[in-house]
Amino acid sequence: MLVFCFGEDQVALSVLDKRWLLEQFQDRVQFDEPMSRHTSFKVGGPADAVVSPESILELASLVHYCRRNGLPYLVVGDGTNIIVRDQGIRGVVIVLTIGFNGIDRVEEKDDEVIIRSMAGARTRSLCRYAIRHALKGMNFALGIPGTIGGAIAGNAGTTQSSMAEVVDAIEVFEPSGNVVRYLKKNLCFSYRRLSWKTAELPIILTGYFKLHPTDATQLKKEASEIMKRRLAKQPAGSPCAGCFFKNPSSGVSAGELIDRAGLKGESVGGAQVSSKHANFIVNTGSATAEDILLLMERIEKNVFRIFGLHLEPEVKILGY
Ligand SMILES: Cc1cc2nc3c(=O)[nH]c(=O)nc-3n(C[C@H](O)[C@H](O)[C@H](O)COP(=O)(O)OP(=O)(O)OC[C@H]3O[C@@H](n4cnc5c(N)ncnc54)[C@H](O)[C@@H]3O)c2cc1C
Repeated sequence: MLVFCFGEDQVALSVLDKRWLLEQFQDRVQFDEPMSRHTSFKVGGPADAVVSPESILELASLVHYCRRNGLPYLVVGDGTNIIVRDQGIRGVVIVLTIGFNGIDRVEEKDDEVIIRSMAGARTRSLCRYAIRHALKGMNFALGIPGTIGGAIAGNAGTTQSSMAEVVDAIEVFEPSGNVVRYLKKNLCFSYRRLSWKTAELPIILTGYFKLHPTDATQLKKEASEIMKRRLAKQPAGSPCAGCFFKNPSSGVSAGELIDRAGLKGESVGGAQVSSKHANFIVNTGSATAEDILLLMERIEKNVFRIFGLHLEPEVKILGY
């Protein structure tokens, strides 16, 4: 989600802005903070400020301040599905992982249990909570890094399922300052996407998940099989953002197209197409965002030339 326009022409924070942010957030604000510290690709230039509000009141006052003073702001989770360009991000990056990470059971009826997870909680924590309480529905998300906010915003998933299948409702913080609850029937999920009626998605605060009581032993067995399959397929260790491109609707996966185009191992600077999984671009250590984006363009061009198919990035490109 992105509010207002980020770009080279945006002014950096004024002295007054910095003073206000420091007064309000003390050690929970960092100025000129390298986004490489906040992304799983480990690339990205500095954000003017990265702020971690701890409560709705703090979030509301931050958003209000930004809007009143024309400062762009943007929420990120764990940065596992974004690339921040090398010149960084002008404005305020909001991170919800400090104060917005509770998970609890809020409702139970027949064979349904509703679990509430705040947006800054890790997806893996929700998966573990479900396993601990013998609740079925979340195992598909085992091994997906990042936060619940990021997972809902991008309808994270696998071939087995996606967030759209388990989300029952969400609460968002609207730019007006209101917290509004949306039931699933009013949400527009599609493949790796949650569309919104306005151009930009508002800040997601909470997800409500409909899960089902099940046999704990069976659930644990399924979980370990899912994790084993994931580890066998994906490159481990190198910084990346998971699958780089969405699978085209034609039926052949993006990874297979890239592989068939002979691009496994292809590299630009420190960015390389993984030889284990062709839809993973990895940072071999010294990649810049530009290296990754140049490699992305090379893959897109070659796949289009050979197969006539446009690959669309799943990873969101932010900054300038
Ligand atoms: C090794 C690896 C494996 C992966 N495997 C998978 C997989 O199997 N399936 C899959 O779908 N993805 C996968 N991913 C991608 C990524 O982990 C998921 O998309 C994840 O859900 C993103 O969460 P995040 O918190 O890191 O979001 P971020 O990357 O921080 O943000 C992603 C987008 O969501 C927006 N956003 C974040 N939080 C909020 C919020 N609270 N409100 C509104 N907008 C918000 C951001 O502005 C941004 O546009 C993988 C990534 C890695 C590194």
